[in-house]
Amino acid sequence: MKMQLGEIASAVSAQNDTSAWNEIEVSSVAFDSRHLASGALFVPLEGERDGHEYVSNAFKNGAVATLWKADHGKAPADVPVLVVDDPLTALQALSQHYLLKINPKVVAVTGSNGKTTTKDMVASILSAQFNVTKTLDNFNNEIGVPVTILSMEPNTEVLVIEMGMDRPGQLDFLSRLVEPDVAIITMIGEAHIEFFGTRDKIADAKMEITHGLKADGTFIYDGDEPLLAERAKQVSQRKQTFGRRKTDDMYALDVKETDTQTTFTASEWPDQEMTVPMIGDYNVNNALAALSVAQLYRISPQASAEAFTHLDLTENRAEWVDGSAGERILSDVYNSNPTAVKEVMAAFSQVDTVGKRRVVLGDMLELGDQSARLHASLASAIDPQLVQDVYLVGPEMKALYDALQDKYDAAHLHLYGTDEQSNLISQLKGDTGPSDLVLIKGSHGIHLENVLAALQ
Ligand code: ATP
Ligand code: MG
Repeated sequence: MKMQLGEIASAVSAQNDTSAWNEIEVSSVAFDSRHLASGALFVPLEGERDGHEYVSNAFKNGAVATLWKADHGKAPADVPVLVVDDPLTALQALSQHYLLKINPKVVAVTGSNGKTTTKDMVASILSAQFNVTKTLDNFNNEIGVPVTILSMEPNTEVLVIEMGMDRPGQLDFLSRLVEPDVAIITMIGEAHIEFFGTRDKIADAKMEITHGLKADGTFIYDGDEPLLAERAKQVSQRKQTFGRRKTDDMYALDVKETDTQTTFTASEWPDQEMTVPMIGDYNVNNALAALSVAQLYRISPQASAEAFTHLDLTENRAEWVDGSAGERILSDVYNSNPTAVKEVMAAFSQVDTVGKRRVVLGDMLELGDQSARLHASLASAIDPQLVQDVYLVGPEMKALYDALQDKYDAAHLHLYGTDEQSNLISQLKGDTGPSDLVLIKGSHGIHLENVLAALQ
């Protein structure tokens, strides 16, 4: 971004006299004083720590101005400062001002799973024809969304933005903030059910992404999810569904998976084979969502297919890496929930090998009082004919351990505490041979990346 401090002061309704500083050029915003670019506006947020204590540090590292919360005592006198009611609200207001100024088309993506993947696919495809800015990393909340908006180059034509949520009202707010031209719901799963109680309530909360949808905008969603189909009736804007049924506007034909990629054709473009360099049948759905956007923005089937061949993926989830014993490891250690485990397990179980398939699963966090039931429910996805050894990590996995008792004997089913990773690692290293396949998946909080690192 590029804005003078005077323009920012008026966008955030600064309460102090800023006239002496109005000409200062600001080129970014930052809320972490350790990671900011020179020319940044520092935004002191109050979380675990109070950002106001890091203002002088921010200036040392190159900040040229800072926000300051009005009721937070006396603002520093020696640096350019904008006094506001609340720095987070000010950040959001500033992002809205900048968004209106640059005025790109906005594609907003939510869903229980597949947000980042779909966001990356949409951005890669639209880049064939437009200047695109997309959410970096996983910055998808009420801080990340404004930061993403403010990261736009002035020549941005399309902004592709990931929106996450863990409580009702959050997507309502984010959607109204950006007023998307396209709102996508990838799917409804069980992530965050701890806070919601039921999938119905999750669906209600996800639907909030349509609350700010422009009157001439388009709602794109998983047409095979009854909870969405039912709720979509309330949406008056244009609607487009994707999925696996002939009743969907864009559905998949001829899906074929190898161990590194998935090919299919989309019903609208039967003559163009699409190859996604990822495994997992679910990625076909993510790709169909992205192709629905491609069609809307008149990107050709050929250009869309070409974009899939060089996808710029944010974080390589479900990525194959080589283990030191010669085994191949399917690593997916940043995120876990019941739907995601079942999906990746289905993909993993199909990959050919002359060796054994081993599965390391860590706790799925944030499942609340349904945690035991949902952990146990994974048993139906684990077939002892296809997966020879199972290693479970974390207290919640006890429920799955119990549920697998009649399928596995003690030599092939192991349960470890979160602090027993070294035992797991030595067992796994002892067991694993050169032709084996190992799947490692768990919530980030379980830190299975340590197990991955030890095997590599
Ligand atoms: P987060 O909530 O962490 O931001 P996300 O919604 O951005 O997650 P991705 O990062 O795209 O999701 O994918 C995370 C994992 O979810 C994948 O590795 C895969 O296991 C699973 N997944 C992705 N897409 C789908 C889908 N459409 N349906 C079911 N599972 C999916
Ligand atoms: Mg994400």
